[in-house]
Amino acid sequence: MKYDYLVVGAGLYGAVFAQVAKEKGKSVLVIDKRNHIAGNVYTEEIEGINVHKYGAHIFHTNNKKVWEYITKFAEFNRFTNSPVANYKGELYSLPFNMYTFNKMWGVVTPQEAAAKIEEQKAAAGITEPKNLEEQAISLVGTDIYEKLVKGYTEKQWGRPCNELPAFIIKRLPVRLTFDNNYFNALYQGIPMGGYTKMVENLLEGIEVRVGEDYLEKKAEYDAMAEKIVYTGAIDAYFDYRLGALEYRSVRFENEVLNMPNFQGNAAVNYTDAETPWTRIIEHKWFEFGDQPKTVISREYSSEWKLGDEPYYPVNDEKNGNLYAEYKKLADAESNIIFGGRLGEYKYYDMDAVIASALDMCEKELA
Ligand SMILES: Cc1cc2nc3c(=O)[nH]c(=O)nc-3n(C[C@H](O)[C@H](O)[C@H](O)COP(=O)(O)OP(=O)(O)OC[C@H]3O[C@@H](n4cnc5c(N)ncnc54)[C@H](O)[C@@H]3O)c2cc1C
Repeated sequence: MKYDYLVVGAGLYGAVFAQVAKEKGKSVLVIDKRNHIAGNVYTEEIEGINVHKYGAHIFHTNNKKVWEYITKFAEFNRFTNSPVANYKGELYSLPFNMYTFNKMWGVVTPQEAAAKIEEQKAAAGITEPKNLEEQAISLVGTDIYEKLVKGYTEKQWGRPCNELPAFIIKRLPVRLTFDNNYFNALYQGIPMGGYTKMVENLLEGIEVRVGEDYLEKKAEYDAMAEKIVYTGAIDAYFDYRLGALEYRSVRFENEVLNMPNFQGNAAVNYTDAETPWTRIIEHKWFEFGDQPKTVISREYSSEWKLGDEPYYPVNDEKNGNLYAEYKKLADAESNIIFGGRLGEYKYYDMDAVIASALDMCEKELA
């Protein structure tokens, strides 16, 4: 028997497509080359804590349709993302808001804070920023740049801010209110019980095989289905024949600590240049955990090379052009849909990837 669809990749895109296809009466097989489902939103339980194995994931959206869809498969808690910045032991609220400005300068009113920022911007005298450093100073002044932007950004990009292009930070959110909520989203939270459980619910009743690499047995798999939904890397599909698309990578160092509370917050950014990691995630606080132990992940920015885990696509001209060439090849293939962050070489937040999969379902399964 042939399946109607073979879905390559059990991440969010693949799982949503499979769920809707099954609901529409289609037969679906989902495979993933990893030994687990859920793709990059995978959470693994360690010491009773749901650990975000491929980086911290906070669900946030203004898209009501996506929210109504995904909440059929998980109940979300009331987690609000309020990261803390640690600059050489001084703690600041993020995103930049009245708590940050009060700690930085002792200002109390929004008027005082605005005046301080304007004073520093004027003193810097930058009219046309030539690089990221000048761009940041022209947006938030020197103190915030020096303590909260410079070191963090240089660790992220592995280059000094005055050698980075200005366009990387078009704007820096400045709030003249006492609001620590990082996202301005209507809906926000963490699926109770972890993301893996949510994806398990999406895939309920669907045949799933993990530890199966489509590209290793492509002909065999192609013969098994009428149509393929491919959410792996587009350049890998074409055996890198035009060259490899580049990514930025992150390295995670996980540690179980024999204490109930390490840093009192889910995310603490280390904004000085000397601390080698960019931030520490303490996973239990995504779900207000009361376990006796805690699990932390130190995050390091790292250069990416072929074979490393691809995280963030590089949105420059070179990679944009290369992707456009691969896209032409993809469009010429028959019976296959390329989707998701790797298939479309695109940074997607979770809500955007769900929306994209739902749109595809509307077109494909109408
Ligand atoms: C560090 C980091 C943090 C993030 N934090 C947030 C956040 O806080 N909030 C938010 O909204 N979004 C966040 N995101 C984005 C989120 O991770 C993505 O939106 C989502 O994971 C995309 O789902 P996907 O299905 O497209 O891709 P993936 O989850 O990568 O799924 C693709 C799957 O395909 C499988 N695959 C690939 N090739 C093959 C093959 N040849 N054969 C079989 N299987 C294959 C892979 O193993 C993988 O499981 C973050 C992303 C990163 C990198």
